Amino acid sequence: FDQLDGEIWFNGEFVAWKDAKIHVLTHGLHYASAVFEGERAYGGRIFKLTEHNQRLHNSAEILGFKIPYSVEELDAASVELLKRQGFSEAYVRPIAWRGSEMMGVSAQSNRINVAIAIWQWGSYFNPAEKLKGIRLDIAEWRRPDPKTAPSKSKAAGLYMICTISKHAAEAKGYADAMMLDYRGQVAEATGANIFFVRDGVIHTPVPDCFLDGITRRTVIELAKRRGYQVVERAIMPEELSGFSECFLTGSAAEVTPVSEIGPHRFTPATICETLMNDYMKEVYPVAAAAE
Ligand code: PMP
Repeated sequence: FDQLDGEIWFNGEFVAWKDAKIHVLTHGLHYASAVFEGERAYGGRIFKLTEHNQRLHNSAEILGFKIPYSVEELDAASVELLKRQGFSEAYVRPIAWRGSEMMGVSAQSNRINVAIAIWQWGSYFNPAEKLKGIRLDIAEWRRPDPKTAPSKSKAAGLYMICTISKHAAEAKGYADAMMLDYRGQVAEATGANIFFVRDGVIHTPVPDCFLDGITRRTVIELAKRRGYQVVERAIMPEELSGFSECFLTGSAAEVTPVSEIGPHRFTPATICETLMNDYMKEVYPVAAAAE
């Protein structure tokens, strides 16, 4: 990935992709003092760009640092970089981290670095598999209590258990893992929120110890616009057998139907399909307006 062509926006400048390097003694690498975002561009426009950059600022604030570029500056840099990269469909990855000026847990005077990279990233999950639904394992690791970890920050450190869980699931032939939370309630997948359907009603966990995804909120709004009832509540794993449909939401995952979670089976049907299509229309405003 470090050998692609093009440019990366790095601390206010556009640098050659291969030159966007950091030192091995970077605090963000040793102590995970890093926050990031994941966005997608559709038809040359980055969907909910400002919301993502606001969340990046908020994530940093939760970790106790301030990003030295305003939301507006980050928005402008992303738009300019997308143009320079020449893509209309792309994935956008901003990241901010503490630099290498001091070593040790304390890093009071370390520079806050910011970079934005944009590349072409197809469907997060295999597209053919996406339509029939993906298979999820149930992770052994649990989303931590918000008193134990900064759950509301999209912080790099919180992804340690996601990578371990996803690797364990992949080793067993699954596409991803569903994680429970510290109470044993259903939480989310390793990089996406989760929804279920029963008797035409949509159920999704309350995001009190994981990200309230921007896609999650968009899909809830789209579902309500369709007249579907959406219930946000605590969901226990014992309930999974009673749901007919299941899907994941995320900026990278978009709306991805799920066919299996451990021993439970789901059949992607009307609600999955409707929301997949509605989401694609929502992210492409020009196509939607032309209808
Ligand atoms: N949970 C986790 C752990 C994630 O990594 C993501 C992707 N950012 C989400 C949920 C969904 O968030 P969003 O819809 O804002 O991309």
